[in-house]
Amino acid sequence: MPRADDPAFRLFAADPAGPGDDAPPGTPGTGEDVCPDCQGHGRIGGRECATCRGTGIVNKGVGGA
Ligand SMILES: [Zn+2]
Repeated sequence: MPRADDPAFRLFAADPAGPGDDAPPGTPGTGEDVCPDCQGHGRIGGRECATCRGTGIVNKGVGGA
């Protein structure tokens, strides 16, 4: 049973982060990284990249994630 303070629980909760983000921007323990799907371009095949929502940047967990 996931707890609300379990980081994994956020994956199931409605949050403002894009599907490629491990956590919302500004979350302690996370950092920005180049989107692995569009390589930072923000677009794939002329369409906005859904993984980073067109920003080219995703928030990834750091410190061994
Ligand atoms: Zn992207």
